[in-house]
Amino acid sequence: MRHLITTKDFNKDEILELFKDTKEFLDEKPRTLLEGKSVTTIFFENSTRTLSSFESAAQRLGAKVLRLDTSRSSLRKGETLYDTAMILDSMSPNAIIVRHAYSGVPHILAKHMHCPVLNGGDGKHAHPTQALLDLFTIWTHFKGKIKDKIILIVGDIKNSRVAASNIELLNRFGLKIILVAPPHFMPHSNLEKSYKLDDKLIDKADIIMSLRTQTERHNKSIYASLKDYANDFCIQSNLIKNKKLILLHPGPVNRNTDISDEMMSDKRTLVLQQVKNGVAIRMAVLKKLILEN
Ligand code: ASP
Repeated sequence: MRHLITTKDFNKDEILELFKDTKEFLDEKPRTLLEGKSVTTIFFENSTRTLSSFESAAQRLGAKVLRLDTSRSSLRKGETLYDTAMILDSMSPNAIIVRHAYSGVPHILAKHMHCPVLNGGDGKHAHPTQALLDLFTIWTHFKGKIKDKIILIVGDIKNSRVAASNIELLNRFGLKIILVAPPHFMPHSNLEKSYKLDDKLIDKADIIMSLRTQTERHNKSIYASLKDYANDFCIQSNLIKNKKLILLHPGPVNRNTDISDEMMSDKRTLVLQQVKNGVAIRMAVLKKLILEN
């Protein structure tokens, strides 16, 4: 049984195949490919776009969606994760999508389930469909010519599962990654690093990926105030000027901390395109894992 727990679960050829389907699914037409199938979503951590994106994707392919209400979940009443997995499995879904604040939960569930498990984000560990949609957005923008493109990943990289998944995937596709963050947000890594965001870096960049400060994963407030952080790392027009590049963000965006209001409405900012691409890539992933397993 194949699952999608990290980006490493798919090889390069498989990802390029997924992109072919993704391109077709961008027409947003309803399909019957998964008619008669059921997809369960169980999100133990807040989500707006990933949950609705997966549910739209499943429905656009004709599947039925069962959303499990985690506020009433028996896990909160002391049921073990193993027992929850067994209960979910007994309902025989064709796929299950799980999000959890703890790294490793999707992996544990996958060991006990008889259907594909898709990771909708686990702790600081991984968010594979986000990285796939980011890569697809970059790949489409540069018409497939992405080798050696320079991407700055800016922000709370250390606590970001989006960054972790993107670093693995973008590296594999030959992009040059530069990590840009204050020391507290910088992970241990062999990649090129910068502790400040300046004109020199912007001049080099083809892509900037801005990240949200993951305050929910901090033990204590690391920056005296988010305003100080924003002064140094917010993506603003006076920094980007007329530079030809694209700006990505996985959302939710903290306006004027991650990206300024002005840059949010700039043509180079592809946040809404990322959301559109997200539904289509999740359709492609669901199709692959449900029909090919
Ligand atoms: N939505 C993304 C995630 O779930 C990014 C974020 O929350 O900052 O990881």
